[in-house]
Amino acid sequence: MADDRILIRNGTVVTMDPGIGDLATGDVLVRGAVVEAVGPDLGPVDAEVLDATGMIVMPGLIDTHRHTWQAPLRGIAADWTLGQYMTGLHLGLSGLFRPEDTYAGNLLGALEALDSGITTLLDWSHNVNTPEHSDAAVAGLIDAGIRAVFAHGGGADMYQVPSTVPHDEDVRRVRAQHFAADDGLVTMAMALRGPQFATLEITEHDLRLARELGLAATMHVGDGEWGRSRPVARMRERGLLGPDVTYVHCNTLADDELAAIADSGGGVSISPDIEMQMGHGWPATGRLLRAGVRPSLSVDTCVSNGGHLFGTMRLALATQRAIDDNRERGATDRAAVTLASRDVLSFATVDGARTLGLDHKVGGLTPGKQADLLLLRADSLALTPLNNPVGQIVYAAHPGLVDTVMVAGAIVKSGGRLRGDVERRARDLATATRDALFARARATAALADAAPGGGWQPEPLVTEQS
Ligand SMILES: [Zn+2]
Repeated sequence: MADDRILIRNGTVVTMDPGIGDLATGDVLVRGAVVEAVGPDLGPVDAEVLDATGMIVMPGLIDTHRHTWQAPLRGIAADWTLGQYMTGLHLGLSGLFRPEDTYAGNLLGALEALDSGITTLLDWSHNVNTPEHSDAAVAGLIDAGIRAVFAHGGGADMYQVPSTVPHDEDVRRVRAQHFAADDGLVTMAMALRGPQFATLEITEHDLRLARELGLAATMHVGDGEWGRSRPVARMRERGLLGPDVTYVHCNTLADDELAAIADSGGGVSISPDIEMQMGHGWPATGRLLRAGVRPSLSVDTCVSNGGHLFGTMRLALATQRAIDDNRERGATDRAAVTLASRDVLSFATVDGARTLGLDHKVGGLTPGKQADLLLLRADSLALTPLNNPVGQIVYAAHPGLVDTVMVAGAIVKSGGRLRGDVERRARDLATATRDALFARARATAALADAAPGGGWQPEPLVTEQS
């Protein structure tokens, strides 16, 4: 038997490759890290067989923006506004993270993502207060076994709004030490504050640094009132837009700003769950599509919402349909929906890959691409009978149905369980980190009220814009 080949046999195959389409029954042949063939019946093949009877075989999901380090604090912001998040977490608890806490957060968050079928994650890492924090964040991603983009975002001291502090120069060392080659499972980008959190001069400086280092950039724009300061228009006037920039959220950007993103070839990541929970505004999905931008999807932060993209896909779809069908704004009965299930599954796969500049490697089950995929239990009560695979993936699937996950041909989850001892290790480390963080917070005057349990309500941040 060829020990580097795995034949995934007899599944319902949703490839997201328009040239191949969906196969009611089909096989996927994996050789090493790569998809070698996809077809209705690949026949007898010298390979280890993975029986996918009763399963959907689909590309791994792609999360294009997550503050992974925050995972040990999950849930504490479920009832916070954006202003409370800025003080309680970003200007508060974040400063208490030691490198080992960052490691614990990234290990837990990346494993949580993998467990739910997310095979590629952009880690928007904006709490790397020392070089050791950056090293720990990278190590957490590598140890989880996920495909990731480590987006270096500097430390909390860079987030005194509006900041005149340039991006942390340690990004140069991280680039040279960990990412000298761009061919690893974990690659690198820069997470910039952009014109909402730093001056335009600093934004220009930071973007130049990213471009000098050959790194893509990602920045938050268009969230809540901060987003009405025309951040993208100001960047355009200064000639800063480009295809190497991903704009996160975009809710309150003006239409001409969305058009400017489209013209520049830039990418977009929307996080409908957090955007509606924290008051960023309506998800910009439909406005982006009309402007010519296909968005990707992101979880953003697990301090309020859950960490899987099935929920994000559902919210993206339901929200846009509700906006389009708003009778108070003159909508009437439609002959057809405005946005389809396949569109949002594309946001979570193909469009995510393009947004991260990884579409030559991942995003669909295409021969020659990396074997990043998952098997969903279509024989579960939640999905039986399988009448509309894509519709049911978006509207009815959840992480509990993820049976098998493969990253670059390596099986990281099978039989509904992550392989090895990593899950227990991540749980132990994250719980210890959570306990240590709140103990340190209680010893800090500004955070004396900080406590788990759901009752802690920080004072919201007040800025010029708000
Ligand atoms: Zn974010």
